[in-house]
Amino acid sequence: MAWLTKSRFMAGRQCAKRLWFEVHAPLATRAPESMAIRQGREFDSLMRVLVPGRVVARDRGLPAAIAATSRVLAAGGAPVLHQPAVRHGEFAVIADILRRDRGVSELIEVKASTQVKPEHIPDAAFQTLVLRGARVPVQRVSIAHVDNTFVLARKGEYAGLASEADITAEVEAVLPALAEEAMVLHRVMAERSAPAIAMGPHCHAPWPCPFIERCSAGAPPPDLSTHRDARVRAGLRIVDRAAAAEVRDAPWPRAYLDFETIAFAVPEIVGTRPYEQLPFQWSLHVEDASGDLRHAEFLARDDFGDFTALATALLRAAPPSGPVFAYNAHFEARVLALLARHVPPQAAALDALRARLVDLLPITRKAYYDPRMQGSWSLKAVIPTIAPELAYTRLGEVQEGEAAQLAFLELRADATDAARRAALETALLEYCRQDTWALVCLARFLAR
Ligand code: SF4
Repeated sequence: MAWLTKSRFMAGRQCAKRLWFEVHAPLATRAPESMAIRQGREFDSLMRVLVPGRVVARDRGLPAAIAATSRVLAAGGAPVLHQPAVRHGEFAVIADILRRDRGVSELIEVKASTQVKPEHIPDAAFQTLVLRGARVPVQRVSIAHVDNTFVLARKGEYAGLASEADITAEVEAVLPALAEEAMVLHRVMAERSAPAIAMGPHCHAPWPCPFIERCSAGAPPPDLSTHRDARVRAGLRIVDRAAAAEVRDAPWPRAYLDFETIAFAVPEIVGTRPYEQLPFQWSLHVEDASGDLRHAEFLARDDFGDFTALATALLRAAPPSGPVFAYNAHFEARVLALLARHVPPQAAALDALRARLVDLLPITRKAYYDPRMQGSWSLKAVIPTIAPELAYTRLGEVQEGEAAQLAFLELRADATDAARRAALETALLEYCRQDTWALVCLARFLAR
C-alpha cells in the first residue's frame, strides 16, 4: 500500500476526501506553479546557504532517498543534513534540515512564511513522529521562517533573513493524538471509494484545495441568504446614483491608475524587504471633459528594480491635477509610498500624486450591486455585469494578478527566448491596460 507522506498527511488533515483523491484520482494536469511555491523554493535554497550541510535526498525518488539517508546515518551522519528521508512502517518523510549541535538533535522545518502558523505544528510533529520511529532522535523542533524586518543592505548578503522559532513544546503536546490521526488517514488511503465529505470552509483553508472544481461540479450556487449585506440577501440589482456623486462631480481631467507588483521571499533589490510589493508595471488612462482618452503604460524589463525609470515615466504621463481613480486604492497608495522612498528626488511629486487617489471600491460598494456579482465587489466580479465585452476571460494567458507575476518572472528568465518574451510582454500589457480601461468604464457607469 502507498505510504502516508508528509504532504498526504497534511492534505488528509485538511480533508480526508482530498487525501483519497490525491492517492486514487489525482488531477490529470498539474496546477501551474504558484507564487507561494516559488517563494518557498527561494527560501529553501537560501537556507542551504545559511545553514550549510550535506544534502542527502535532492531530486531522487523517495525510496532512493530513504536508502541514501540510511547509509549516511549508518556512517555516523553529519552535523547538518538537508533533506534526509526516513520511513517508519507505512509513514515516510523527507525532512528539511536535521542539525546536531552539542549533543542535541534538532529538526528544522523551513517555512517561507513570516511567522509560525498553526498548521506548521502538525506538519513538524508528523516528521518528528516518523523520525523518532526510524530511530533518529529528535530532541528539539524549530521552524525557520522569514524575518520580514530584514532589509537587503548589499547584494547577496542574507545573514539575518531567517529567524528560528523553537516549537518543541507545541509538537510534544500534539504528538500522542497525531499518531492516532496518522493511522486513521492511512486507513482512508486504503478505502475503495472517496469519503462522503461536503464542501465547506475547509476547502479554502489553510490552503485552497486543488479539487474544488471537481467537488463543486453540479453543486448549487453559493447560499447568500446569510450575507451581511441586505442587498446581497435580497438578490436585487441596485444602482444608487446619489452614492456615486463623488465620481459624477469629480473635476477633469480624470486619471485611472493600476500597478502590477511582485514580492520576493528573498529580496533581490537593495533597500527592499522580504515580501515587499515591488512595482514592475503600470497602466494609466487619462480622460478629459469631452470624453477623449489617452493611454500610457510602463513595463520593466532588464531595468527591474530601477524604480527611477518607472516613477519618472509615471509622473510624466499623469496629468498635473485632477483625481487619480484606482480600485482598492490602498494598494496604489502603498506602491506610490514605496516609490517615493526609493526615488527621493521624485518623492514630493509621488506623494502629491498619492494624495489625489480616489478609491472606486467603496464608492461602487455603496452605489451598485448586481446578483451576478454573487456577493463580491472585486473588479473582476463587477465589470462583466456592466461591460460584458470586458470579461477578463477574453484575455490571453494573463487574466489575473498572480498570472501577471508568473509571466513577469518568465519574461526575466535567461532561458526565455525572444518569441516567448514578445508574447509575454503583449499579454502583460494587454492585462494591465484592461484593468484601467475597466476603471474608465466603471466610472462612466457610476457617473451616468
Ligand atoms: S474541494 Fe473541499 S470537499 Fe472537495 S476534496 Fe477539496 S477540501 Fe475536500
